[in-house]
Amino acid sequence: MQTDLPVKLLATDDGRRANEILRSCVHCGFCNATCPTYQITGDELDGPRGRIYLMRELLETGENTERTTFHLDRCLTCRACETTCPSGVAYGELAEITRNTLGVKRSGLAGLTRQFLQWLIPDAGRLRRMARIGKLFRVLVPKNLAKNIPTKVGKAWRALKTADNDHSLSVILLNGCAQQVSTPQTNIALAQLLQDHDINVSAAPDEGCCGSLDLHLGDENQALNRMRHNVDALFELAQSCDAILSSASGCGVTFKDYARLLAHDSTYAQRAATIAAKVLDVSEFLDSLEVNWARARSVDRVAWHSPCTLQHGQKLDDVVSRLLQKAGYKLTPVPDSHLCCGSAGTYSILQPQMSDQLKTNKWDALMAGAPELVATANVGCQTHLAAGHDVEVVHWIELLK
Ligand code: SF4
Ligand code: SF4
Repeated sequence: MQTDLPVKLLATDDGRRANEILRSCVHCGFCNATCPTYQITGDELDGPRGRIYLMRELLETGENTERTTFHLDRCLTCRACETTCPSGVAYGELAEITRNTLGVKRSGLAGLTRQFLQWLIPDAGRLRRMARIGKLFRVLVPKNLAKNIPTKVGKAWRALKTADNDHSLSVILLNGCAQQVSTPQTNIALAQLLQDHDINVSAAPDEGCCGSLDLHLGDENQALNRMRHNVDALFELAQSCDAILSSASGCGVTFKDYARLLAHDSTYAQRAATIAAKVLDVSEFLDSLEVNWARARSVDRVAWHSPCTLQHGQKLDDVVSRLLQKAGYKLTPVPDSHLCCGSAGTYSILQPQMSDQLKTNKWDALMAGAPELVATANVGCQTHLAAGHDVEVVHWIELLK
């Protein structure tokens, strides 16, 4: 793709990188075939190729239009297009750079909602208090937010006593922010599982939000501040552990990207790279152990929903499938398993109509093989899919022993 970005923008790291990504696109349109929003609307501007043109226009002119914001906001940043693209276009990174150029500031209700989400979700303590209040006054909460209030509000996970064996592996288990409030059973089950297999598990007491929410909302400064905070919180502890584990694929994909995101910060770059290199999704870690995993639940048929952050972001889709099958579960067929469920961070709140449509489609696909339960790997997908449905949705880690 030809580009004509302004010299001033090309003098920046972001500008040069955006230019490089734009030029790698050969506008073949293969990516449209796997884009969830394009599949629903059929509008070229709701597909990756059209959005890449919009981003080029925005970066070239510096002018944002209502039309551009509308179609870029409808993007889930699911990165299914990256998996499909034969030219290796780094769509997610381009979207991130463009959002930063676009800026986090929105007027009116859209701006207030975004500020509220940035104030609420990354602070687990605040989120827990507000969720408890929200549960009591659910009828007064706007519908978009009410559906995201957890039915049970959990307590923070606490580190278990360590194993006595000197030869045991040691891991730090990331707590995340939304997960420890909405689905605390995930890390409780994981910590127990690891300890049962003689692995030392600890937490980083000062760990905070990974920064993904701010990044998706175009507030890079805030995102980088949260990342620096986590580098400080984890660096010393990371020296004496074998891995830093994430059980929320949305957080894990961001932590793994700390090296790139903080590469230009001379104070933090090296330590961020050290942290990022130690972060593993829990599936990678369990897959590396010589353990015969067994079934923790007496069900046979499981529908596996691989979050976009796992299959497109971390390219780890088949690892969980393999572990579940090795444990003895039968995975039911799920058509179009590459498509997003519509959760996508704050997307279900900011784009409720599109999100609901994607959820309906995903649920129909998950139920196609009549599973006894649904397993996934990210708190957002889990709570989003579970709401309003009778079939249980669990984190896959709860299925192993
Ligand atoms: S598949 Fe890749 S190269 Fe082709 S239009 Fe999409 S992003 Fe561009
Ligand atoms: S990130 Fe997802 S929603 Fe956005 S353009 Fe790519 S495939 Fe479509």
